[in-house]
Amino acid sequence: MAYEKKEQLYEGKAKKVYATQDPNVVIVSYKDDATAFNGLKKGTITGKGAINNRMTNNLMRRLEAKGVPTHLVEELSDRETAVKKVSIVPLEVIIRNLSAGSFAKRYGVEEGIVFDAPTIEFSYKNDDLGDPLINTYHALALKLATAEEIALIKNYAFTVNELLKGFMKEIGIDLVDFKLEFGRTADGQIVLADEISPDTCRLWDEKTHEKLDKDRFRRDLGGAEEAYEEVMRRLTGVE
Ligand code: 5GP
Repeated sequence: MAYEKKEQLYEGKAKKVYATQDPNVVIVSYKDDATAFNGLKKGTITGKGAINNRMTNNLMRRLEAKGVPTHLVEELSDRETAVKKVSIVPLEVIIRNLSAGSFAKRYGVEEGIVFDAPTIEFSYKNDDLGDPLINTYHALALKLATAEEIALIKNYAFTVNELLKGFMKEIGIDLVDFKLEFGRTADGQIVLADEISPDTCRLWDEKTHEKLDKDRFRRDLGGAEEAYEEVMRRLTGVE
């Protein structure tokens, strides 16, 4: 079906969402805008929108093929994709394989410690509150999701980790950590939503340990554009 872009429904920090003629489908349009620290740091990573769109779709297609349901419907252009309309479960699901970022800071450890088993944590997706950490009891108390949905989300998240770790290893990248978001479709199915990109994952070159992700922007390391392009180049090289 040819999806027509109708009115804008929402504008987030990195994406806009538009209605289509199908009430169950929306179009996401990826921007080059980059923000960090809950919007305090703002900038642009030229070309990021197109890379994140195509990378997310590449990875979601491969996850779907391995049995993980996603919101993906159809890539429409460099920056735009038709996805199932979902209500986002307001939980950011974070999986970690190595220490980095807020984990290293919170627990006072160096970055780069390899864990024996991956960790999972949830943040309450709420910009006004700064996405605070939340446990499953709190999420249930706040009625953010049902116990069944949380169990399913945890299962999918660990499955995504195993698959994504493998996809990245094939291209010489260590998957350090990442954030996922899930949504509920009109018929109540939980599906993987949002994006999987260098904006939402920490990706380190397995040999040089060079950072190939948004930390280049967050930490003013320079070379963010080149890092995103490098991940995309390696990923599409094996497609
Ligand atoms: P940390 O908690 O260490 O800051 O982030 C852990 C992982 O989740 C990183 O890969 C980071 O990119 C991702 N992440 C956590 N929160 C957010 C968020 O609000 N936005 C984005 N884009 N990624 C996030």
